[in-house]
Order: sequence, then structure tokens, then C-alpha cells
Amino acid sequence: MTAQLINGKELSAVLKQEMKGEVQELKQQGLTPHLTVVLVGENPASKSYVKGKEKAAAETGISSSLIELPESTSEAELLQIIKDLNTDESVHGILVQLPLPKQISEQQVIETIHPDKDVDGFHPSNIGKMMTGEDTFLPCTPYGIITMLKSKNIEIEGKHAVIIGRSNIVGKPVGQLLLNENATVTYCHSKTKNLKELAATADILVAAIGKAHAITADYIKNGAVVIDVGINRQADGTLTGDVDFESAKEKASYITPVPRGVGPMTITMLLKNTIKAAKGLSTIE
Ligand code: NAD
Repeated sequence: MTAQLINGKELSAVLKQEMKGEVQELKQQGLTPHLTVVLVGENPASKSYVKGKEKAAAETGISSSLIELPESTSEAELLQIIKDLNTDESVHGILVQLPLPKQISEQQVIETIHPDKDVDGFHPSNIGKMMTGEDTFLPCTPYGIITMLKSKNIEIEGKHAVIIGRSNIVGKPVGQLLLNENATVTYCHSKTKNLKELAATADILVAAIGKAHAITADYIKNGAVVIDVGINRQADGTLTGDVDFESAKEKASYITPVPRGVGPMTITMLLKNTIKAAKGLSTIE
């Protein structure tokens, strides 16, 4: 069997086209969704992510601005900037690019962003709403993964989903969203015993580890849906996933490539959240 690709780049293009129309309509009503990105320090990967976000926003007509702060910025300074953005009516979404310099607590920052402007979906109040299944901002990568599965009409209900990785931004929330869709969910992580055996029972296998090609064909059940979240830079500078794509695609029914898989969807869902934030502005005091 050769798996069908779930191409995140193509799906993103379709979704961005839809959003462009929606943004045009909002603009006609006098509302231009606006995303403010805060970048602290000189991390080259962060700079490139931020560029990607600005470019994607521009493609859909969403306006964006970038606040660049020096590496030496104190936590108090950053928190004050966030508080100002919280009360700035022209700003609908706030994104503070992670990671932050070590003198700044990421959790403090996440908790200071107003939940109604939290387009990353990291605020504890939004995470709580996600858990109880209330309407809220969903974290972008897990939201992108669910959107990819739905785009192919892949059945989730009653399926066994195995998530490898338990980070707060990918592993934990993607498991929760699959549970919300009535999957039976198993979480695996660095301390899991018999990882291979567990993975090989998955109908839907999500790899979010950060280790190139860690998931080979013997971790995959025949016909499984394989979602590769990993982004690993190889010695030659190219990017690759956590899944050994060449062998995995012979066993899977569907598979996401890296690049052009989950990565582009993450940015696209950020734009969706920004539009949602713009529409919901009236709820902010
Ligand atoms: P993380 O480092 O916070 O978490 C990694 C997880 O993998 C941990 O929970 C750990 O327990 C688990 N793990 C580590 N080694 C393992 C092993 N040998 N066996 C089983 N589990 C193991 O990383 P993260 O932020 O969740 O990101 C994971 C990967 O996804 C990275 O490659 C990252 O670059 C990528 N990522 C991609 C996107 C995207 O948009 N596609 C978004 C976020 C992260």
C-alpha cells in the first residue's frame, strides 16, 4: 500500500483563500483584523517563524505589526507591553514568539495575555475551555492537525489515537482534541515502556517528538493514519520529520509530509484565530 498524502501546504492555500474573502467582508464593515507579534531577542529560528506569520497574514488581508525587543528585555518591561496591547482596541490578537530569554517566565507571559486576544491558545483559561469542549481559541498546531484529518473525512470517533510527545503546545492538546472527537487516546513520551508496541496499535498515530526519523515502519499498523509534527534540521540544512517517511508511507493509509505538512497548517490556524479574535472584540472589557 502507498499512503495518500495529506498536503498541508495545499490545504492551507484553500483555507487562506476562504479567509481572504472573510477578511474582505469584515473590512467592508469597518473591521480589519490585526495581529501584533512580539519578538524578544535574536533567535534566528524565531525570526524566520515571525516572518512566515507576517507574510501569511498579509496574504489574507489581515494586518500585522511586529514589536522587536532586545535580548536584555526584563520580564516587567515585557509584561507592561502586553498589558498595553490588551487594552489597545486596534489589536485583536497578541502573539509572543517563544522561546523567551531566560530572565523572562514564559508562563507569566502566557497568563498576562488577555484570553480574548490569546490567538496561540496557550492561556490556562483557554486550555480549560478546550478541555471542557467550549468554544475557544484552540492551540494552532493541534487545531491544524484536526483540520487536516477532517479535510480527508478521516473517521476519528472510536479510533485508537496514539500520541507520541506530551508537550503543552502539541502532544497534550492534540490528544485532548482527538478525545473531544471521541477517539480513544493513549499518550506516550520519553518514559514510556514498549513504545513501539503501543504505537503499532494506533489507528491514528501522531509523532511530536523532535527526533529525525525516530518512527520507522515497525511502529506503524497497516492502514494507520500517520501525522508527523516533527521539524528537524538535517546536516545539509533541509528539514525532515520524526517519521521515516519512505518506509512509513508503504504501511500507512494517510500520511503528512515534512515539509508541506503540519507546519503550514499551524500558521494558517493562527490566522483563523486572529479573525475569530477580531469578531469577538466586543467581549473585552
Ligand atoms: P518538546 O521537546 O516540548 O516535547 C517532545 C516530547 O517528545 C516530550 O514530551 C518527550 O517526552 C517526548 N520524547 C522525547 N524523546 C522521546 C522518545 N525517544 N520516545 C518517546 N517520546 C519522546 O517538543 P514539541 O514542542 O512538542 O515539538 C515536537 C516536535 O514538533 C519538534 O520537532 C518541533 O520542532 C515540532 N513542532 C512542529 C510544529 C509544526 O508546526 N509543525 C509546531 C510545534 C512543534
